[in-house]
Amino acid sequence: MPTPTPTPTPTPNATSSSRKVAVIGAGASGLVAARELRREDHQVVVFERNNRVGGTWVYDSRTESDPLGRDPSRSVVHTSLYDSLRTNLPRESMGFRDYPFVVIKEEGKQRDPRRFPGHREVCCYLSDFAHHFGIVGLIRFETEVLRVRLNQETKKWVVGSRRIGGGGVGEVEEFDAVVVCNGHYSEPRLADFPISKTSSSFMLPAGLGYTGPRSLKRSLETPIESFEEVCWPLLGLVSGDVDVVEGIDLWPRKQIHSHNYRVPDPFQDQVVVLIGSSASAEDISKEVSSVAKEVHISSRSSTSMTPVKQPGYDNMWLHSRIERTDEDGRVVFQDGSSVYADVILHCTGYKYHFPFLEANNIVTVDDNCVGPLYQHVLPPALAPSLSFIGLIWRVIPFPLLELQSKWVAGVLSGRIALPSQEDMMSSVCALYARLKDAGVPKHYTHHIGDYQFEYSDWLAAQCGFPAMEKWRKQMYEASEINRTVRPGTYRDKWDDEHWNLQAQQHFIQ
Ligand code: FAD
Repeated sequence: MPTPTPTPTPTPNATSSSRKVAVIGAGASGLVAARELRREDHQVVVFERNNRVGGTWVYDSRTESDPLGRDPSRSVVHTSLYDSLRTNLPRESMGFRDYPFVVIKEEGKQRDPRRFPGHREVCCYLSDFAHHFGIVGLIRFETEVLRVRLNQETKKWVVGSRRIGGGGVGEVEEFDAVVVCNGHYSEPRLADFPISKTSSSFMLPAGLGYTGPRSLKRSLETPIESFEEVCWPLLGLVSGDVDVVEGIDLWPRKQIHSHNYRVPDPFQDQVVVLIGSSASAEDISKEVSSVAKEVHISSRSSTSMTPVKQPGYDNMWLHSRIERTDEDGRVVFQDGSSVYADVILHCTGYKYHFPFLEANNIVTVDDNCVGPLYQHVLPPALAPSLSFIGLIWRVIPFPLLELQSKWVAGVLSGRIALPSQEDMMSSVCALYARLKDAGVPKHYTHHIGDYQFEYSDWLAAQCGFPAMEKWRKQMYEASEINRTVRPGTYRDKWDDEHWNLQAQQHFIQ
């Protein structure tokens, strides 16, 4: 699997200079970015649309007006958390290295001491972090960034923002740099399935895919003429799912994306088809099965030619992909089985979305690949004045966000050197080539699970910071195994107490 390209050993720059930096978002990424930028003496303004810190960890019982999240004028709710969510990582491994996620006992305050705590505890932890390091004072709450563009004359970034609820008063300011931390779990990505109106002859031939939506998607997004536009087709990378399909529009019954799932109650006595196999899909399918009549999970990783009844459940089956949907509500799976469903629940992930960013010809989003980005953070042509924290996924997020932020802060002050623009671009091209050789779909570009520790150690080395602790890496591996072995109970039973003890000793030191 791909590994980060080695770059020249950084030559520390003797002259450190303070920059005026805009950080967009006060979730985990924005908070730790602000902390690291302040450490390097930069002047920081954090823009946050919400009225509190925590980003995706601020639970909101409201859902959006469009349950599939396709209507651009819908009422937007940032978080995708469901009420029962507990972390899927042990808290010791999950926290920032500089501020361990330990159990807090506070008089009069209810905290969650569990090793895999509920979402409210994570939100409290992030709030504690922000207060502890004096980040809160840097944040402009209820202020939405609407526009970010480079002033070609001054070479500064023009940031247009608007106070929410304050009569919509807008403000325009210039910054030396912008750090984008707006999260990537809010804009639903949908699965593709064809619909049959009369007979299966209307179906698309298996494996051929549907080419229409891709061109439609292109017209919906920014027109691109960039390295990325040129480079990807040349490399012939595999394209992933598409997200605007007639099956979705024509299937007559209820559909919802997991972004808008909060509690199982609306699924009482329903026949539910749930598409996906992520951690959320696992959680939600189990929760829904406690009230639904039947739950049919459609997973593209299932190769069985018959539905597989899920152990421990009398109303849940695993199927292959959906072959087609019929106008009478039937859902037909590739394994040959079919059900008349009341609802399709799409647990199919999210899209990167930067509606405010006008860097069209330089940074683009195509098939959920943001690029070109050196080390998933810096667009070579704009580095280091524009950066993206937290795009990587299937990782231990917080410590990686911390390292990415340290790196950006150090590069901005000139303490850490970058390779030349050409070398950064070559590194991006090399990554794309490695992904292509490994047959990795383009929308998996920022999925770095297989090499996250090499990546984090590379970042740490750039920053002159110790590599990620051995116990944290081992704990992560152990908890992944535990989740496979005990899918229903991994949050309450585990075998890695020795790593936990090492973590506690480390925190005390
Ligand atoms: P976010 O937390 O999404 O924060 C982005 C912030 O930007 C938000 O506050 C938003 O309001 C703000 N914003 C966006 N646009 C604008 C704008 N235009 N102007 C101003 N502000 C703006 N991670 C784990 O470590 N452990 C887990 O167990 C875990 N479980 C998860 C479960 C689910 C269902 C999901 C969706 C994610 C989970 N994650 C988990 C990943 C989690 O998203 C990351 O850990 C991390 O919280 C991401 O932080 P972020 O700051 O990058 O984004």
